[in-house]
Amino acid sequence: MYDSKLIIVVPCYNEQEMLDYTTQELLAVVDRLRRGGKIGEGKILYVDDGSRDATWSIIERLTRAHEAVCGLKLAHNVGHQCALWAGLEWASLHGDVSISIDADLQDDTQAIDEMVDFYNQGTDIVYGVRRERRTDSAFKRQTALMFYRLVRRLGEEIVYNHADFRLMSRRAMRALMAYPERNMFLRGMVPRIGLSTACVYYDRKERMAGESKYPFSKMFALAMDGITSFSVRPLQWIYITGFVMVALAIVATIYCLIAYKFSAVVWGWTSIMISIWFIGGAMLVSLGIIGEYVGKIYREVKRRPRYFVEKLVDGEDEKVMGRDFEP
Ligand code: UDP
Ligand code: MG
Repeated sequence: MYDSKLIIVVPCYNEQEMLDYTTQELLAVVDRLRRGGKIGEGKILYVDDGSRDATWSIIERLTRAHEAVCGLKLAHNVGHQCALWAGLEWASLHGDVSISIDADLQDDTQAIDEMVDFYNQGTDIVYGVRRERRTDSAFKRQTALMFYRLVRRLGEEIVYNHADFRLMSRRAMRALMAYPERNMFLRGMVPRIGLSTACVYYDRKERMAGESKYPFSKMFALAMDGITSFSVRPLQWIYITGFVMVALAIVATIYCLIAYKFSAVVWGWTSIMISIWFIGGAMLVSLGIIGEYVGKIYREVKRRPRYFVEKLVDGEDEKVMGRDFEP
């Protein structure tokens, strides 16, 4: 028997068609987990991300009808990531463990049981990973694949095919809350926390009602955020290109001088060619140097935490800090 309090965090933006069904499903999940002795108490937290339809009035009605449902209304539309953050912040203060899931329940609620099992065995973060993406359009699939590859290339840890369906223990949530940055890409931030992690696999379903709130423009913005909120590699690439240019400039100079000596070249060509190559290289190297400083400033202004403690053992007592150990 476990007695932890689970909070299921559901960001909602214009989800009036989904909420009744979602509530029914999630209440069934909570009930199942409680009866199975996997959790002590379960709550569903809807975060209304400034919806313009009847979403909030439906949430209010649901909170009156079901004790396990509660709602948080954001004053305006701040986007999925920030809405989720708001929910997690609340959950870190009022619950022991959270699971974030989209309101359209495209992610399989059956996987929640497995996630909670992992949590009960001591895992802090459990990622829901899509087994395949049959329900997504070929375009979405391909762009997603390209994105994951690029992000990996940029040296970031990111869980492949994992969206924001994940379980987090309180200490994982508190650790996340210690990141004060405003440009957020949770999929990239959570793996940085460390702690013990696991993955559960599921098949992603089709959206039942309403339409995707992630049109291409928003998806692109999220992808850009995913890259620029983390990586300073693009800045370093300028540096490298600069050095390559300088190396090429040396080769070009040799070529130009040989051409000047042994064949009839137009008057002035040699000097112009050499200057073009050298100026190009010098500019890129200088930009790269500035980029290095910008990269440092960027890391500095994020004021990210330097470390999190996972455990502390104290000599013979083997005093291992509990799960509530403050990061
Ligand atoms: N969402 C949100 N704010 C937004 C856009 C979306 O809170 O500005 C929520 C939305 O209600 C849903 C989740 O984010 O619960 C994912 O959106 P959606 O299912 O439309 O994305 P897709 O599955 O198409 O990528
Ligand atoms: Mg969806």
